[in-house]
Amino acid sequence: MTVTEPSSTDDLGFDPDSLREKYRIERDKRLRADGNEQYVEVSGAFAGYVADPYLDTVIEREALTDEVDVVVIGGGFGGLLTGARLREAGVRDIRMIEKGGDFGGTWYWNRYPGAMCDVESYVYMPLLEELDYVPREKYAHAREILAHSRAIGEHYDLYANACFQTEVTELRWDDDARRWIVRTNRGDAMRARFVAMANGPLHRPKLPGVEGIGDFEGHTFHTSRWDYDYTGGSPDGGLTKLAGKRVGIIGTGATAVQCVPHLGELADELVVFQRTPSSIDVRDNRPTDPAWAASLEPGWHQARMDNFNCLVSGVPQEVDLVDDGWTDIIGKMVTLMRNGSADFTPEGIASMMELADFEKMNEIRARVESIVDDAELAEALKPYYRQFCKRPCFHDDYLPTFNRPNVTLVDTDGKGIDRITAAGIVANGVEYELDCIVFATGFEVGTGYARRAGYEIYGRRAQSLSDYWADGVRTLHGMLSHGFPNCFVISQVQGGFTVSYPHMLAEVANHIAFIIDHALANDIATVEVTPEAEQAWIDEIIAKARARGDFLENCTPGYYNNEGKPGERSDQNSSYGSGAIAFFKIIERWRDEGSFAGLTFGS
Ligand code: NDP
Repeated sequence: MTVTEPSSTDDLGFDPDSLREKYRIERDKRLRADGNEQYVEVSGAFAGYVADPYLDTVIEREALTDEVDVVVIGGGFGGLLTGARLREAGVRDIRMIEKGGDFGGTWYWNRYPGAMCDVESYVYMPLLEELDYVPREKYAHAREILAHSRAIGEHYDLYANACFQTEVTELRWDDDARRWIVRTNRGDAMRARFVAMANGPLHRPKLPGVEGIGDFEGHTFHTSRWDYDYTGGSPDGGLTKLAGKRVGIIGTGATAVQCVPHLGELADELVVFQRTPSSIDVRDNRPTDPAWAASLEPGWHQARMDNFNCLVSGVPQEVDLVDDGWTDIIGKMVTLMRNGSADFTPEGIASMMELADFEKMNEIRARVESIVDDAELAEALKPYYRQFCKRPCFHDDYLPTFNRPNVTLVDTDGKGIDRITAAGIVANGVEYELDCIVFATGFEVGTGYARRAGYEIYGRRAQSLSDYWADGVRTLHGMLSHGFPNCFVISQVQGGFTVSYPHMLAEVANHIAFIIDHALANDIATVEVTPEAEQAWIDEIIAKARARGDFLENCTPGYYNNEGKPGERSDQNSSYGSGAIAFFKIIERWRDEGSFAGLTFGS
């Protein structure tokens, strides 16, 4: 035990050593040699899983070979924010390219029943003051967020010149012309002075690589392509066509947690196949108080985003404006400090964080017991790992769904399903016959950038980004890579990760718009990071990442720790280890300083 822990387990009401041991046992059960390779790519025979089920009409148009100042790839929040900030900077000649039929990104694709944001909408949804909009609920539902995405597109005139239903197939730098050639699946070969790639972090569905994955003869789809023709209903629920159907769902992550209550309500039988239980905290959603909305002063949105970001980054604040499950764990840490058990050495802080985490997860496990009637079932639904090893979930209807007589939990004790057959799913050696299988198995995270983006990027001397990043991502501030002039990456890798992802996107969009605006205004043909500046940033990323190594090593496998294999490459491919607040300050100071340090400009 370390010095910060109370002397007896009686003071705590639990034994940290036995919990640590339990966490280790549960993690070890789930470690597997194939790590990220366990999943099947949704291409070839599985390409049908990514077809767009939401299109009303297929756009017919001529191939484009024209030229624009900026191409933004991706019409989700990353692309929209970049487009918005470019417009505000006065850049007129922008083309958004989006594979879906409209703006929205993750909220275009994820329309499964019950989809909603997990982070408070007054923090999560971007550009609220710019659009003079206050979300209708504390946690907004998918439809409202999709509508807001469209509203951003309208407000900033980003529909003009946009190419929807268009997938980029290749980016290639033409060094003589100082232009990017953007090729697409529509035969386009357009030219762009600058390119910003907002492909999204979690957009390429993955399937479990189990035996028989292609054998099922019933109906099947991934949660990010929900088939309402088959299930009936809408994102609000009401899946009436599932009457008389036996439905199986694989996965119990944040997505499954939101759609399982709707499946359980109307399917004749629902079988939930679980490998690792999620941590399910209180949701307590509520409509927005109109008086509160009317009282908001200019600047409220950024202030709330910053307040939340500080609290979830462990920086105590005078007031907790959001006051929910995300900020609660930090509140617990502050309470521990106030109780005088503080030791402010790095080891002391780590130990205090662990204690606060144990307390929080004990609360989560007690919540399962208080909701789920059957004790054995409740035990199977309890998560035994530290809260931030996996995405924490918040829901008030998920756990009660397991009290329904038509809902069965098949806990595979960390092993996952055995195989898929023509008739259903085999797990723990038992075959469950099903009419429909829903894959709530998530999205590719740890695979190569070009594979996830769906296109290769060829920079100077026709070098591919995949080759250049073969031993790990190489950037300055997560955005610019040497040899790939005028090309901006929008991602949390080597940047600032925060649980409210759009906050990071907003800061990165400010930065990219600042650089592009400067280049366009000053007739600068090329902007490129120097190898020295790039290497210095990589060194800092690796040095800072090491501090989190132990935490991730001890975590149950998941995409947060490269499926149980955090390693050298993960250090380099991680976010800035001192946190998002520090990262945002670094890039803000860089802009304020005004020398464009680390960049070279070419004519
Ligand atoms: P996840 O990757 O979080 O979950 C995938 C699930 O599939 C896990 O439960 C996983 O188990 C399970 N699984 C994978 N392979 C097998 C197998 N062979 N047998 C049985 N189970 C298997 O994907 P989600 O779509 O749930 O969520 C992805 C991310 O999207 C979230 O982490 C979050 O960042 C985001 N999200 C955000 C929401 C929001 O409100 N803002 C809502 C929903 C999602 P195991 O845990 O053991 O790997």
